[in-house]
Formats: sequence, C-alpha cells, structure tokens
Amino acid sequence: MIHIGTKNEDVMEFSRENLLSRRGFCLCCVGGAAFTAAGGWLTPRQAFAEARGLVSLIKDSAAVSPIVTHKLRNNISVFEGSGGNIGVLTGPDGKVLIDAGIGVSRPQITTALAALGTEPVTHLVNTHWHFDHADGNEWLHTAGAKIIAQENTRKHLSEIQRVEDWDYNFLPLRPGGIPSEVFASEHSLKLNVASIGLKHYGPAHTDSDISVTFGEANIVHVGDTFWNGIYPFIDYSTGGSIDGMIAASDANLAATTKDTIIIPGHGKPVSNKAELKEFRDMLVAIRDNVAKLKRQGKSRDETVAAKPTAAFDAKWGQFVIDPGFFTRLVYQGV
Ligand SMILES: [Zn+2]
Repeated sequence: MIHIGTKNEDVMEFSRENLLSRRGFCLCCVGGAAFTAAGGWLTPRQAFAEARGLVSLIKDSAAVSPIVTHKLRNNISVFEGSGGNIGVLTGPDGKVLIDAGIGVSRPQITTALAALGTEPVTHLVNTHWHFDHADGNEWLHTAGAKIIAQENTRKHLSEIQRVEDWDYNFLPLRPGGIPSEVFASEHSLKLNVASIGLKHYGPAHTDSDISVTFGEANIVHVGDTFWNGIYPFIDYSTGGSIDGMIAASDANLAATTKDTIIIPGHGKPVSNKAELKEFRDMLVAIRDNVAKLKRQGKSRDETVAAKPTAAFDAKWGQFVIDPGFFTRLVYQGV
C-alpha cells in the first residue's frame, strides 16, 4: 500500500511498513507506465492510482529478479537487475558500491557481493537521490557502509520530497539511510589502491547527479545522465531539465576516451563513448525538433501528435519512457 494524497499530516500517519512501500517503485517507471497504460496523459489523480498498482508490481519484480554480474577491469564490476546499474569495487579496504538498488533485492545482491569476495561493504556512493538508486541505503548502512553523496541527495532523502507532476509526496529515508558524508562540487577517495573522483554535474537529470570516476581503471559511472539505448526520464521536480541532460552528456564526452568503460544509470550496463555520443546526439535532435514546434505555438498535446521523436523511436522508445512521454519531458524544458 502506498500513500496517495497531498497533505503532510496524512503522510505522517503512515506506518513503517508503508514508509518502506512508498519507496517501492521508481519515478521513471511510474511516469512511463502511467502514460502507456491509459493510452494518453493521466491527470495527477489517475497517475496516483497507476502508481499505487505499480508499487507492488515493481517491488515484486525486483524481489525475484536475478542480479547479473559484469566483470570490467581492476577489480571493478557492475550489477544489473535492481533498479539502476550498481558499480562495485573490491579489495582489502572493503567493497565500495556505486548506488544501492532497490531494498527488496537484498538477498540477490548479498549473494552477488559474496561471489566477488568475503570483505564487507564499507562504502556506498549514491549517484543521485532517486529510489531505484538509493532505496538499498538503509540495509547497506546496517551492513556497515558509510554513505557518500552530493549535498542535494542528502537534502532530498531527508525531507518529504514532492514530485509535482504526480501530486506525490515521497517520505524521508530512515536516518541510517541518509548519506553521512556530502560535498557540493567535487570529492576524492583513495580506496583499494583506486583513485575515485566524485563530481557534481549541476542540474541535469536532477539537481543531485554526480559522476564517479575510477582513474587507473579508466571507468566512469555516470548515473542517470546516460540511459544506454533508451529514452531517459528527466525529473524537473528536483532540478532536472533537457538542457541540463545535454550539458551533462557534453561533460561526459569531454571526460572520456574511446578506451573508457562507461556505466550508464539504466540500459545495457557496459557502454562506451560511441554509444554515449549517439545518446547525446539523440537528445539534441529531439530538443531542436520539439523547440521548433513549441515556437510555432503548438500545445504540448499538438507537439506529441506531430511525433518529433519519430526518427528515433524504433531504437530508443522500447522502454518505460515511451515517445509521447519523452516528448512531454522535453517540451517542458524548451
Ligand atoms: Zn534517476
């Protein structure tokens, strides 16, 4: 069960079980699925109803999804199967996780971690505040992880977070799940002989996104600034925008070479600069198409009907953010 409503006092009445449940879905999936299920854009109240059903759906799905481990190089791997892609660095200092996935995946993630070695998880970095990247914070903290993030991630995980498009209030995480070490712009760590650089993008997919770079290994986890082969979600409610996504893509291109292994937030988890460039060019082309229609005075629905994404839909429109939903996200920002 999940809270549907707008008043904070209603939210506060919720039990601990409900508080956990309300984290049981991802923003990205709710928006896309809500749009698709109704064959059109939902009113906020209709979207609630869809979201309520999706909570159990996505939790149930994550609970039974296997975790697939992709070994990269220099003791760095990526886990696929629990919300966003999870980076893992192993070594004598303890395991370092980049993102926490969804809490109900704990048994599968525990097994996958054990297969990489016996050392405990000592550090967890959140690439941004979204549920499908930070819901596992609570159990990983209990297991011994110190949680590090950009300061806006701590802010959003500490407060009731209102997502205006769905008239929806997210409750804060328990204190243990809140990042205990935060930074504004940049931060560096040296763990397991790896130099780890954390860097804030500025407003992009949200206002809390960071890249995590493993220097010697030439691997970078770019969080949800890159969705590999699928249209991305953009969270305007916490500072995201299409122009911010494009700026982040340009920063990612400037920071990588053809030999860099790039871990995207969603989509095929082992990627490269060529795929990233294709993603960036898709964003720019669709932004230009949508901006042109908006300048001609077309409404949001008229712009969707004009299919400004048509040339890209076969490749990019096959996931939860479908062409109509993505067009609306872009329209909002141009
Ligand atoms: Zn996200």
